[in-house]
Amino acid sequence: MQTPREPSAVPRTNPAPPRFLKNHPTHECGVFAVFGHPDAAILTYYGLFALQHRGQESAGIVTAKQSDTPFASHKGMGLVAQVFGMGDLERLKGTRAIGHVRYSTTGSSNLKNAQPFVVDTSRGQIAIAHNGNLVNAAQLRVELEAEGSIFQTTVDSEIALHLLAKVPDAGSPLAALRRMEGAFSMVIMGENEIIGVRDPFGFRPLALGRLDGAYVISSETCAFDLIHAEFIREIEPGEVVIIDEHGIRSEWPFRRAKKAFCIFEYVYFARPDSNIDGTNVKEVRVQMGRELARQHPVEADIVVPVPDSGIYAALGYSEELGIPFDLAFVRNHYIGRTFIQPTQLIRDFNVRVKLNLIGEAVRGKRVVVIDDSIVRGTTARTRVVNLREAGAKEVHLRISCPPHKHACFYGIDFPDPEKLLANQMTREQICEYLGADSLGYLDVDAMVRATRREKNGFCMACFTGDYPLPYDAAFDKYVMENRRGKARLLPATQQPSLLPAAPPEAPPNV
Ligand code: SF4
Repeated sequence: MQTPREPSAVPRTNPAPPRFLKNHPTHECGVFAVFGHPDAAILTYYGLFALQHRGQESAGIVTAKQSDTPFASHKGMGLVAQVFGMGDLERLKGTRAIGHVRYSTTGSSNLKNAQPFVVDTSRGQIAIAHNGNLVNAAQLRVELEAEGSIFQTTVDSEIALHLLAKVPDAGSPLAALRRMEGAFSMVIMGENEIIGVRDPFGFRPLALGRLDGAYVISSETCAFDLIHAEFIREIEPGEVVIIDEHGIRSEWPFRRAKKAFCIFEYVYFARPDSNIDGTNVKEVRVQMGRELARQHPVEADIVVPVPDSGIYAALGYSEELGIPFDLAFVRNHYIGRTFIQPTQLIRDFNVRVKLNLIGEAVRGKRVVVIDDSIVRGTTARTRVVNLREAGAKEVHLRISCPPHKHACFYGIDFPDPEKLLANQMTREQICEYLGADSLGYLDVDAMVRATRREKNGFCMACFTGDYPLPYDAAFDKYVMENRRGKARLLPATQQPSLLPAAPPEAPPNV
């Protein structure tokens, strides 16, 4: 097993990269939890390692021993390997743990906003870790402050803590969560239990597993593989799973909603070795590549992926058309984040430092480049220039999803919609701007077909503009910092409209 490093060099500040550097939609967060294992902290540490792709700004673990001892917590800015040393993990004693890796989608990237959050209430301590975005966060915060809550952070996730903390002794803590609207896959630790919660739309994944008689919960199943846990099942949209000394049970406190899983998890966010809803992510990406080849074939000599997320779609494209696959771009995995100021020269370097081209692989060839998205076009344009400079005869771009035209309000940090290239130009203009010989995007139906799932079970709002849950159009990730207690209440026409209350569905077998 890899040994966690000693904590001496834990960075305490690590600001979010300037938005100009982001040419991809950015990941969100990952959550992990363990109930009933003597090595709960170590398991969570490795679980967070597997989820590191979902957030690299901060990481944290909270553990609990018995119900009458205080929680132990350690959080820091940076990657999991930077935040935790062996000494930190040894201090995190207990058989229960929750953990979090963060990319900030609401609130600044700083230690104060790092999760999990812990509060003391009259009924004991509560800790929480959240993946997603609450669309009514500003409104709820105003209401909670009016009711006397004092917030410590500028993150929407803290709202869930205050909702839970305010429940009267006789009330149901979980019913309090009904006030939240939006995307939330979260894990909660109380004095005696671990709780997994998934919003009724099921925007973000959340899975349940078992290891040596203990239960584990993870944003993605790839974390189960790493710790040799057995996958049991997905936590269903709208389901709350409660694990305590009496066993495991489900409650359904939310009103029912139409399922709206984020399809971009399959395209880009999730790890290829994760399974979602019984479907392997890598297989879906290969299938997207096959669909792309059928929709936008081209005569070419090699198919080249933009690593890492374009690799499997490129394999599918290559297999479908019988064109050789070649890894002509080499990714540098060791650059971390860069924070220097933007000049044109530095922008160019920023693109090149991540991916280097093996010129010999493309010289004199007709090249198909497969990527998972074009957001601003900056990096795609530089890559085309690199390929031409290296002597590529033709450059054809193929994208394994439709054009991104709309913002995400459910936990993904896109650039402002007006900066999305597909909002500014026609496809022909984009192709010309990027300097490519041709450009093809996968269409919505083919993208869905590749998942082998029903179209109406997905959120595809950033492609179609069809939002499954009303949102606050003026939302931005710094709403909690900018608001100064004057958050706008949603106009009546934008009030969330969940489907009518329905009787709880039968809990799936655990
Ligand atoms: S808007 Fe796009 S990125 Fe956001 S949840 Fe929907 S499909 Fe995913």
